[in-house]
Amino acid sequence: MSETKFLPFALPDIGEEEINEVVDALRSGWVTTGPKTKQFEADFAAFLGDGVEAIAVNSATAGLHLALEAIGIKEGDEVIVPSYTFTATAEVVRYLGAHPVCVDVDAATFNIRPDAIRAAITDKTRAIIPVHFAGLACDMDEIIAIAREHGLKIVEDAAHAMPTYYKGKLIGTLDSDVTVFSFYANKTMTTGEGGMVVSKHKDIIARCKVMRLHGISRDAFDRYVSKTPAWYYEVVAPGYKYNMPDTAAAMGIHQLKKIRGFYDKREVMAQRFDRELAGLPLILPARAKDEGSNHAWHLYPVRIKPEAGVSRDDFIAKMAEKGIGCSVHFIPLHRQPVWRDGYQLTREQFPVADAAFEAEVTLPLYTRMTDDDQTRVIAAVREILGA
Ligand SMILES: *Cc1c(COP(=O)(O)O)cnc(C)c1O
Repeated sequence: MSETKFLPFALPDIGEEEINEVVDALRSGWVTTGPKTKQFEADFAAFLGDGVEAIAVNSATAGLHLALEAIGIKEGDEVIVPSYTFTATAEVVRYLGAHPVCVDVDAATFNIRPDAIRAAITDKTRAIIPVHFAGLACDMDEIIAIAREHGLKIVEDAAHAMPTYYKGKLIGTLDSDVTVFSFYANKTMTTGEGGMVVSKHKDIIARCKVMRLHGISRDAFDRYVSKTPAWYYEVVAPGYKYNMPDTAAAMGIHQLKKIRGFYDKREVMAQRFDRELAGLPLILPARAKDEGSNHAWHLYPVRIKPEAGVSRDDFIAKMAEKGIGCSVHFIPLHRQPVWRDGYQLTREQFPVADAAFEAEVTLPLYTRMTDDDQTRVIAAVREILGA
């Protein structure tokens, strides 16, 4: 395939605006958390609206850790997570000495299932981390109802959900406790590495702000611009080092300005996949079914049906031979040695997640793909499936 260029699975969409803003940060003399981070946080909160506050961190993983700490998760507590997610969702629970309790997911959406949450609740359960898989919201009305009924907190893992509406409201503005977004390189908007913690609860935001920077009650930029002595600070807790540098926030400012345009393009591409892959031995991704809900299309996950006569692994190998990168989302937590062995998890306990994993392939879908790139992907899929 030397004459055709390899089409990678994902590429960030970075323009001159981002580049110029990063250069501006570099020339300004202030490269760590400062004015650009403050602007990015303000812009992000304004984008979501509804009175949320936003604090920028150096990854969503860091943000999830801060969120769980801020809602009071402690050693021995239990936190319910879907098995069908990235390990970050569960590892942050262990950071605090608490236990992630994996549950099975919905067969259509791959999202955490309310009935599975209910079945997993014990007297040690403190919180639920719903993951809006691929960019489609979980059944949040049900999850919020369960949390209220049992006095549980909700931390939404919104790594895929920018921008995702649920019944007319953006993810980040629902009645949960905290929501965390990711700006990792392959997400729908990127700062290279980065994340945003969002909440309407002032006490949670205040705690996350302090713990984000060593448990210090004033950050470096506050001290820099403040009238009281710049050298003075108080450490009020053993905190972490999770702040976002201005060099990253500079990218985020412009990625956020473009997010609606990115989303529109992803939606058009997803619709084209839906149209031109229909009728093949594939299960296409679920669409948002509620009025006022959408799919952010961070991922376009398909499942190969048994009658296709090709395994998922062979399908990915054949796509690679044709110069097209695919991926798998996710290898479920119950199959990962750390969670499988640490909590004696078996495949039988997660029949839906397990079967989904065996058949799942994520096709490339990103804004830097051209129409011709997508034509190539569609033609390759059709050829491999004998259509
Ligand atoms: C990417 C991802 C994360 C972690 O995001 P980082 O910013 O890389 O820490 C967490 N949860 C899910 C579901 C993800 O896909």
